[in-house]
Amino acid sequence: MNAAKKDPFRGYRGPAREVMERFGITVWCEVQAKTTRGDFEGLVLPRSETSDELHLVLKLTSGYNVGIRHDTVLEMSKVGYREAHYQIPEKDFPTDPGHPEVKLLGTGGTIASRLDYRTGAVIPAFSPGELYGSVPELADICNLETEKLFGVFSENMGPEQYLILAEKTGEAIREGFDGVVVGHGTDTMHHTAAALSFMVQRPPVPIIMVGSQRSSDRPSSDAAQNLINASWAAGHGPIAEVMVCMFGPTSDLYNLLHRGTRVRKMHSSVRSTFRTLGDIPLAMVEKGRLTPLKDDWRPRRDDRDVLVQAAFDERVTLTYYYPGMNADIVDALVEKGYRGIVIAGTGLGHVNRLIYPALERAREAGVQVYMTLQTFWGFVQMHVYETGREILELGVIPLANMLPEVAYIKLGWALGVHPEDPEKVKELMTTSIAGEMTQREPHDGYLILQGGIPEVQEFLEKVWR
Ligand code: ASP
Repeated sequence: MNAAKKDPFRGYRGPAREVMERFGITVWCEVQAKTTRGDFEGLVLPRSETSDELHLVLKLTSGYNVGIRHDTVLEMSKVGYREAHYQIPEKDFPTDPGHPEVKLLGTGGTIASRLDYRTGAVIPAFSPGELYGSVPELADICNLETEKLFGVFSENMGPEQYLILAEKTGEAIREGFDGVVVGHGTDTMHHTAAALSFMVQRPPVPIIMVGSQRSSDRPSSDAAQNLINASWAAGHGPIAEVMVCMFGPTSDLYNLLHRGTRVRKMHSSVRSTFRTLGDIPLAMVEKGRLTPLKDDWRPRRDDRDVLVQAAFDERVTLTYYYPGMNADIVDALVEKGYRGIVIAGTGLGHVNRLIYPALERAREAGVQVYMTLQTFWGFVQMHVYETGREILELGVIPLANMLPEVAYIKLGWALGVHPEDPEKVKELMTTSIAGEMTQREPHDGYLILQGGIPEVQEFLEKVWR
């Protein structure tokens, strides 16, 4: 981190960096630039490692940022230097003996970042003082203790991190916290929610995962509302399960609490991206009020009995079936030593005949193969069509309405918990322990409003004025 901060070309590579070198410019230089598209004056901002190689980014004196393409630059000269301060003004987080104690475990993602208004750089905001500085309402809700476990975007979360997070969550519960909040990037939050649901069983207090789609510098940010509602649900809420707390509707009316094994990110950018699949959400929450929508949840308890089983066998995979898939895909997995394969099959749980021989070879090699659905809603039913029956005979095990990602996580966990006992793994996989398989699905749950259709428009006009 420090080395990266000192890098004079922070985040700049390729042609954009060549332009900087040519004119003797580094990040934080105040420059005047002549380009084929006009003249600009501003501060050269650092860029993230993942940004493109073509543009330099200037914060203009107006406060707006502008991207200048390398091949438009005619001249650039340094007129000053003004380095950013990475520190957010910290305020002491006031504690109140009447408030519940909440532990916030940070893993990274947009929720853990804020933009420095002055410079445009994204910086981490994480200590209680920083959080209080950014979201002062938190101090009215709970006493917050924060611990940063990782600082990664969520594509970098994986089994290694799941184990640490599960142990730390168990520790916080045993230490007596009234609730745990896990700050996480949204992209793979549902994987981690599933991992925690299996690794930390029967918790006596709420474990709430929270993220944000938009960072807190943006007027439309969901970070503060999500954090406020998540902290409230963790400190005061009655539901003691692993849940995801994110924007419910498109506006900022309330948050939804989704069960950790039934939730999925369903839109790349809108704030109400998390949806419960195969069921309805557990509850609605807005500051100071939690309204359950179902009644099959586990209630908060006073004891500290929690079963932490932090184990994961990484030799498992999730394969999304497509028409035309060849047997060699499955063979390659078996040859590479994978011990478990979850297939996301078509319709009621189908794959083509081409891969039958490979499924047979997998079974002979002791590799467990499970079937889930690409449709997300509905149950695997392999007795309906001949294809289904044939696949069952090849030893493929149906997983009812378990979501594909959840099945992948559960299989890694089950193989990790019972490395020597395939029968126990099968038994665990086919028994619902955290709501990952249900008896039935609500008939109206999947009716996600489809805009553009007359009756939906009519309904929306009545509701949204
Ligand atoms: N790419 C980010 C992540 O998942 C997005 C976010 O935090 O919402 O870590």
